Amino acid sequence: MHVVIIGNGIAGCSLATALAERSEHSITLISEENPYPFARTSLMYLYMGMVRMDDVLIHPKDFWKTERISRIHDRVTQIKPSTKAVVLQHQEMLHYDVLVIATGSKVHRPFWWAEELQGVTGLYHLRDLQKIEILTSKYPQSATIAGGGLIGIELAEMLLSRGISTTMIVRESAYMNHLFPQEEAVIITQHIRKHGVQLILEDEIEELISQENAIQYIRLKKHGLLPCTMLGVTTGVLPDHQLASEAGILTRRGIVVNDNLQTSSPSIYAIGDCAELQHALPGRKTTEAVWYSARQMGEQLAEILVQQRESYQPRIWYNSAAFFSLHMQQYGDILPGSSKEIISISWQQPQKNKSIRVQYHSESKKITGILCLGVRLRHTVCEQWLSDQTPVEDVIRSWIRASFEPEFSENYHQLFQQFALHVLEHRPSTPQQCIQ
Ligand SMILES: Cc1cc2nc3c(=O)[nH]c(=O)nc-3n(C[C@H](O)[C@H](O)[C@H](O)COP(=O)(O)OP(=O)(O)OC[C@H]3O[C@@H](n4cnc5c(N)ncnc54)[C@H](O)[C@@H]3O)c2cc1C
Repeated sequence: MHVVIIGNGIAGCSLATALAERSEHSITLISEENPYPFARTSLMYLYMGMVRMDDVLIHPKDFWKTERISRIHDRVTQIKPSTKAVVLQHQEMLHYDVLVIATGSKVHRPFWWAEELQGVTGLYHLRDLQKIEILTSKYPQSATIAGGGLIGIELAEMLLSRGISTTMIVRESAYMNHLFPQEEAVIITQHIRKHGVQLILEDEIEELISQENAIQYIRLKKHGLLPCTMLGVTTGVLPDHQLASEAGILTRRGIVVNDNLQTSSPSIYAIGDCAELQHALPGRKTTEAVWYSARQMGEQLAEILVQQRESYQPRIWYNSAAFFSLHMQQYGDILPGSSKEIISISWQQPQKNKSIRVQYHSESKKITGILCLGVRLRHTVCEQWLSDQTPVEDVIRSWIRASFEPEFSENYHQLFQQFALHVLEHRPSTPQQCIQ
């Protein structure tokens, strides 16, 4: 059987290697971006000169010499489901028995970025990084970033690393307070400002003003006109489903897949950022643009294709990020606001950028989420607590098992544990917060 995979990101690459281990299928991995799969999460470090491309390859180049996986560096321009073929831009048409679309995401373009303008860029692909390299050598003094997500903050760190004065425009009243509880959002907001980013909160772009096809100003809804010769647009990403929709495959936000990751066309599957689950799992979204989900989809589709697994079953939600030097880990669901069903125990030392939050169900007392800033948690322990739906009291009593702090560092976990045990003993059914 010939399995053709479009896209060699973490989803396509994980599928190819897991399938080669488990089967004798002939496998072809196609990508237009880079001939060797690389960690997209390291784009920032490439720009900052901390690593070279060879350091961020998912497997060393030699690995591919022994693998039974053909790699093609080209763009797929068309999928032909009726003849089970894909059309390549520079090479001959390729036939498949099974096709897997793993085309990832594309940069979201708000309505005001309708045309190509010099000085305006997103950050997702290697080509964006090349564009940013050119722009920052041309306009070295200042830059503006629209959008306050995880990619936006990485772009800010990249620009500041080259001494470029950076302004970020964020719609929310504190950085990411639509996803994180207000207390954590405030710690992150202050930390970002301390690192020299000029944050404009509660505002958004209304219009780009250009001259001779190059950006000159942006008009903000509240703050009015701002001079701007470089604009980074990080207002989110969207599943890249163009090839699939042009081939008549069902798409909504992403490429719609059933529990087996199969699209509306029986021999065609979709995985990673581009896929949209027909049925969202409890507490999860139908599309998830994160590394860990893309990797799991790739690994699990290999098992589905060799009939070692019936359906895609993601592990618990996990995400981690760094806001400059401030590290964040999230396990499971974290409710940003208050609710009768979900109780929060939250402990913070804002002066030291430390916080730990545990959320649990008010009636069953089962743990539903963990969020921490500036402290480190042991992945396997947290994952186990959440997947076992462990009662919060058991979690807190054994909290030190989750500590992953280097030896001799201050033990914030003990402080959190003392506070949380006190809360559970006296007022287990009301949200509690401790600021030290
Ligand atoms: C700057 C940045 C930082 C990030 N940091 C984090 C993080 O800290 N944690 C986290 O969980 N996630 C992070 N992400 C998101 C994460 O990188 C993605 O969720 C993940 O890489 C998606 O993997 P994928 O395999 O689905 O798609 P991709 O990595 O997008 O790979 C898809 C590949 O398919 C290729 N392709 C598309 N169309 C075609 C075609 N027609 N022909 C041939 N090839 C094609 C694309 O060029 C691309 O190489 C970050 C993303 C960015 C941009």
